[in-house]
Amino acid sequence: MKRPESKELDILFASVEELRQAETALKELKKKIAKNAHGLSDISDTKTRISAGVYSYWYAPEVNAKDIAFGVTGQLQPYTLLKLAGPISVGIPCDRCNKDLPIRSRAQMKSTMDKVRGGYAWAEGYRVVCLPCEEAIHEERFREYELERAKQRVREYELKGMPYRQYLATADWQETRCTYLANYVHWTHALECETCNADASLGVYHKTPDGIGKSYDLVLLCITCRDALVVAGKLAGEPSELNLVPKTVARQVLQAHRDRIGQFDDSPHEGAITNG
Ligand SMILES: [Zn+2]
Ligand SMILES: [Zn+2]
Repeated sequence: MKRPESKELDILFASVEELRQAETALKELKKKIAKNAHGLSDISDTKTRISAGVYSYWYAPEVNAKDIAFGVTGQLQPYTLLKLAGPISVGIPCDRCNKDLPIRSRAQMKSTMDKVRGGYAWAEGYRVVCLPCEEAIHEERFREYELERAKQRVREYELKGMPYRQYLATADWQETRCTYLANYVHWTHALECETCNADASLGVYHKTPDGIGKSYDLVLLCITCRDALVVAGKLAGEPSELNLVPKTVARQVLQAHRDRIGQFDDSPHEGAITNG
C-alpha cells in the first residue's frame, strides 16, 4: 500500500517511530540492568557483595531477583539470596500478637500489602497474621470444633434416652424438622408427602429408632400415608400432632427457598398448604 501524502500522517508516524525507539532503548536498558546485576560478582568482599545484593533486592524491584542472585551467589536460583535477604520488617504488625510481621520475599511483601488494603479476611477479625499466630488460630478453631462435637454427642445421647413424646416437644426436634424440610424443598422444590404427593396435613416422622435425636432416617408424610405405615409397623415411636408441620413453618421454608432461588411466582404448592 502506498503511503498517502499528509502532514498529519507524518506527525503521527513520527511519534510511532519515537515509541519504537523508546521500546528498543527500554529493552537495551533492561539487558544493561541484568548485566550490571551480574556485575555485583565483581565485589570481592563477600559481606559487601551480599549487602549490595540484598539492598538491590528490596529497593530496586525493577531488577530481576534471578539476576541479583547470579551476581551475589553465582546461581540463577534466588533461594540463597532470599535466605540472605530476609526476613525484614516493614512496620506492619501481626493483627493478633502485634509483633512485626517478618517479610521474606517480594512476593510476600506484595501479598501482605494487598491483604492489609483488602480488609478483615479472617473470621476472627484479622487482616494479616504471622505464621505462629496462623497456626494458633487453626488450633483454636479445631479445639472449638471438637468441643462443639462433644457437646453435640452428649445432647444426642440425652435426646435418645427421652420418651418419644418428650423428645418431640424439644426445640432440638423443631430445629431438626425444619432442617429436614429445608433440605427436602431444596431438592424437590415442593413440600409433598413422599409416598402419595399429597400436600396437606404433612408431618415429619422417624423411620427407625436410630434416627431419633439425630437428623437422618426421617420421612415427610401426609396423615393417610402415616397411618398406613404405622399399621404396617414401619415408623418408629408413636406419631403424634408434634410430628405435624405447622402451616407457618411450611410457608417460611417455602418462602426461604423461593428467596434463595430468586423465584417469586405463585407456585401451586403454597395455596395447597394454606388450605391444608
Ligand atoms: Zn502473630
Ligand atoms: Zn401421602
